[in-house]
Amino acid sequence: MIRTRFAPSPTGFLHIGGARTGLFSWAYARHNSGQFILRIEDTDIERSTKESVDSIIDAMDWLGLNYDEGPYFQTKRMERYKEVIATMVAKDLAYPCYCSKEDLDTMREEQMAKGQKPKYDKRCLHNKVVKPNVTPVIRFKNPESGSVVWDDLVKGRIEINNTELDDLIIARSDGTPTYNFCVVVDDLDMQISHVIRGDDHVNNTPRQINILSALGATIPLYAHTPMILREDGHKMSKRTDAVSVMQYRDMGILPEALLNYLARLCWGHGDDEVFSLEQFINWFSLDNISGSPARFDIKKLLWVNAQHIKNYPNAKLVDLVIDVWTRNNDTVLKDVENNQYLKLADVIDFIKPRVDNINTLAYQCSYIYKPLIVTNEDIENHQTPRVHELLSKFGTGLSQLPEWSLEAIKAYIKEFCAIESIKMPELGMPLRLKLCGTTQTPSFDNIVYLLGQAEVTKRLNS
Ligand code: GLU
Repeated sequence: MIRTRFAPSPTGFLHIGGARTGLFSWAYARHNSGQFILRIEDTDIERSTKESVDSIIDAMDWLGLNYDEGPYFQTKRMERYKEVIATMVAKDLAYPCYCSKEDLDTMREEQMAKGQKPKYDKRCLHNKVVKPNVTPVIRFKNPESGSVVWDDLVKGRIEINNTELDDLIIARSDGTPTYNFCVVVDDLDMQISHVIRGDDHVNNTPRQINILSALGATIPLYAHTPMILREDGHKMSKRTDAVSVMQYRDMGILPEALLNYLARLCWGHGDDEVFSLEQFINWFSLDNISGSPARFDIKKLLWVNAQHIKNYPNAKLVDLVIDVWTRNNDTVLKDVENNQYLKLADVIDFIKPRVDNINTLAYQCSYIYKPLIVTNEDIENHQTPRVHELLSKFGTGLSQLPEWSLEAIKAYIKEFCAIESIKMPELGMPLRLKLCGTTQTPSFDNIVYLLGQAEVTKRLNS
């Protein structure tokens, strides 16, 4: 059985790099009819918060990355880690170390003076001196020779000489287990078959494999996925970039589009740029993940989002648009409810091919129901002496059109401009302003058609 896990540390919100890792783990399990586990790595008590846990879980829900088990919390598994540490000491796989910070500093300085790489010299392993007033840390007895080798499913074969590795502290002097050790016990107990995680963890892997081997465990397969960088190639930062998954929701990105874009960042299926989650699950394999870092391009994300919006069910978009209005305390919903003629789903259907995010969709729908307040600048730009006369003539003609179809409206507009000897924009700009309160609307023949004969006449006469 394929079992993967996503193991975020709750020291902040879920960021897009984490979401991409979670997505790959999730998709690998789903593709192989396996199981996907959510594990919260909250052993860093000082930095872990309940808000972060909640925000990670909310983001997973919003993205639709459903898990079969969990969330497991490492803080609830302390007894288990301590039990494994005790067994390891009893079996001579780990040992107490009484060295003080000063001892370690001196050791380090001496090694550096000799031009050696600083490393714990295993003195407490070899001379079993017990210091009665000192509570020891516990160190893992790392093999002294040979090497750790694994075939990383993204990076290929990696080999690390054991002489490079320290005897890792697995329990602090207060008995609490350390990070790498908890990961090992969890991956073992949770029977994880594939560890898919960010490549900032590559250095932990040989240490974890050695501990797993000492425990007689089957070693999972590892896939270390590359980082997501900013467009300019620098690391993304919380201060200057939108890194939280939920910021993208607030920007009007659909979860399907965000996942599509994140998937495509360093994985590919031919030239396919836009795909559904079902397609992604069907196509996904670890073989075609590229090893080099990807660059985040917001314009591309918005383009992918626009493609998803075009194909999104109107009923779902109705909910999302209402959500945006509610969040913005926009009162337009009352106008929507009072309008017998314009169904929100139809308005959305008309606007959606022209927008690249849900906020713009909501905004453009709102001025269809309720014209915006016109700015002075707009009035100055478009109030020519003839405008009022033109609009009133145009309105009278429109109200008498025998047939209300887009074709009939287009033909009427053409004829009207010819008779009045004006160019389209001379009519279009003030017309848009009068009907919607803004000149930034989709093509005005469409707006006129959508509003309907009665509403257009009413707005032109107002
Ligand atoms: N908790 C680690 C992190 O948030 C992930 C550890 C792992 O996947 O092994 O980066």
